[in-house]
Amino acid sequence: MANITEVQTLRTRANGTWVIVKILTDQPGLYGIGSASDHHHSSTIITAINEVIAPLIIGRNAGHIEDVWQSIYTSAYWRNGSILNTALAGIDMALWDIKGKEAGMPVYKLLGGPTRTAVPCYAHAGGNDIEALIEDIIRYNEEGYEVIRCQLGAYGGGGFREAADIPLPKNHLSKDRFFDDELYLETIPEMFANLRDRLGFSLKLTHDVHEHLRPHNAVTLAKLLEPYRLFFLEDVLSPEQIDWFRHIRQQCTTPQAMGELFVNPHEYVPLITERLIDYVRVRVSKAGGITPCQKIAHLCEFHGVHTAWQEGGDNDPVNQAAAMHLDMATTGFGIQEENHFSPSELAAFPGHAVLDGGYLYANEEPGLGIDIDEKCAKDLLEIHACNHAAEDRRPDGSIVRP
Ligand SMILES: [Mg+2]
Repeated sequence: MANITEVQTLRTRANGTWVIVKILTDQPGLYGIGSASDHHHSSTIITAINEVIAPLIIGRNAGHIEDVWQSIYTSAYWRNGSILNTALAGIDMALWDIKGKEAGMPVYKLLGGPTRTAVPCYAHAGGNDIEALIEDIIRYNEEGYEVIRCQLGAYGGGGFREAADIPLPKNHLSKDRFFDDELYLETIPEMFANLRDRLGFSLKLTHDVHEHLRPHNAVTLAKLLEPYRLFFLEDVLSPEQIDWFRHIRQQCTTPQAMGELFVNPHEYVPLITERLIDYVRVRVSKAGGITPCQKIAHLCEFHGVHTAWQEGGDNDPVNQAAAMHLDMATTGFGIQEENHFSPSELAAFPGHAVLDGGYLYANEEPGLGIDIDEKCAKDLLEIHACNHAAEDRRPDGSIVRP
């Protein structure tokens, strides 16, 4: 039996946006690590862990994962917020890491054992025009990816009008381009018509709307894309408008993937149990770690919905490892989003998951199989000014929700 003796928070990557929780125990050399990263609120999460959560769990049995999880979850009375969930996830993953080390087996074996030999991932292809996009899709396909996300540029790409081409108000904001729903409804179906015409239907293609559309336009887009038989359409609605999935279901068969902004079970549970989405895209750390995500995965299996845990961009290798262990043990698994790290970032996380030819591979080490090299991690750390998410607006100056 191991008792928790100390909870450390280690900040790494440029801007210190990765927060790794390290839980030490009273057993010599036995510790675990977890991901509590948040691109915008690292310091807030570290404060929550150090000042509120650590005093609550020091001295507790590290093996009582479910009980510790419930204890932290209810400790602040108010719950299901992004900050507490992320802090909780860091603790939860570290406890699973410790349990795996105590048991002498990888976490995915503790979760029920492997249901697959490797984890298929989907790639992010992009280009500012159709030719560049096709080139990128072919490159990923040749690497081994069968499922490929297709985007015209960054968030909302395909829906931007140049300021010079729009009748703007006299007091308009000084921006080069503005988002336009109707243009997006024209551009994206045209993009898929081109892709299917040039590449055929054997590739499995997805598209991420990044929640940019008004809800009725989201319904229209899903319907317009039906002939192109997407693998899934991602985040077509913002979390505030998820009741509109009922209307999408009534209109078309385009598969729906949703959830990277979800933090509350009341967001994802009804969508799963009413079979209103096809892939749940929660980020493991934003749901509160491996413990709640295993429950989500089981709920999905019963309802014919699949998992597609969010990765990409700002996630760290420990969160990726946690997602991979869930993927390995999940019958209701659908696909895993890929993530690319620099060589120096990977060097800071020995035992990291290996991405090769469109598949993610776990190692056979006990626990999560990943560690943090604190010297290398410290070398990655440079604190710059806070980097906020891109802010898109409509011609009248109003914000487009991401
Ligand atoms: Mg997305």
